[in-house]
Amino acid sequence: MKLERILSVPIFSVVFMVGFVYYVTVFIFIEDCSGLSASEGSRHAMVFTLLAFLFVFSFFVCVLTDPGGVPPGFVPDVEHSLPSDQEDKTSHVNPRQCDKCSAYKPPRAHHCRVCRRCVLRMDHHCVWINNCVGHRNYKAFVVSVFYATIATTYSWILFLNCVLQKDQDFSGRMPLKIFYIACGVMFLGLTSTLGTLLAWHIYLISHNKTTIEYYDGKRAAWLAKKSGLRPHHPFDVGAFKNFTLVLGPNMLKWLWPTAVSHIKDGLSFPTARDNL
Ligand SMILES: [Zn+2]
Ligand SMILES: [Zn+2]
Repeated sequence: MKLERILSVPIFSVVFMVGFVYYVTVFIFIEDCSGLSASEGSRHAMVFTLLAFLFVFSFFVCVLTDPGGVPPGFVPDVEHSLPSDQEDKTSHVNPRQCDKCSAYKPPRAHHCRVCRRCVLRMDHHCVWINNCVGHRNYKAFVVSVFYATIATTYSWILFLNCVLQKDQDFSGRMPLKIFYIACGVMFLGLTSTLGTLLAWHIYLISHNKTTIEYYDGKRAAWLAKKSGLRPHHPFDVGAFKNFTLVLGPNMLKWLWPTAVSHIKDGLSFPTARDNL
């Protein structure tokens, strides 16, 4: 099953892309600009290699970690999960059933049509990891996007440094000039796409929302407003606490994808109501 997940076109595409970015950055940009044997060049190469390694490691942790399925025979704790009159009745705290699995769904779980099962605290199904992003691999997903963003930004800066500082003379080397321009455009596109994705997930974590909950919440907020209630996401327990729930209580381990001892069973989650 795990081998099947790895031996897929999207995973090979990501590995190919990482290899391409790594080769161009280290053996073209750094080599051409500072030289790999020079101390400045080798320093850049070492830092970039570390970032590439951290990305690849986090990426495969995300690919190989089961996001979490609903245990067979799961029955929701109805008493605990029913919202009070003051709370948004459209939220996901109500006990829900999955028609396709013919079983109860814990709060925040959703059915994934690709994986053909309900996934705990499902965020989205990601084609690039050929896996669902859910309760157990969400941290690895965010951390891998973080390292990818830092690495491509670093590569883009090295590219600019190389082109501008060295005042490259491309006369008579048209193919090289085209290659540099193509890489510059591609790396800028990659950096901005990954940066936007990272900013989006930092926003979601700060509000303790999944991507699905964000879009569902828009409708729920409209309904709540119509009924004169204050829209409130029940799992938002304060920005810093929200970050610790996803990344862990120890900030020193926030960027390590396998530091997930804080992850609970995914069948219930703290709510703002617990703190009242
Ligand atoms: Zn289901
Ligand atoms: Zn899925």
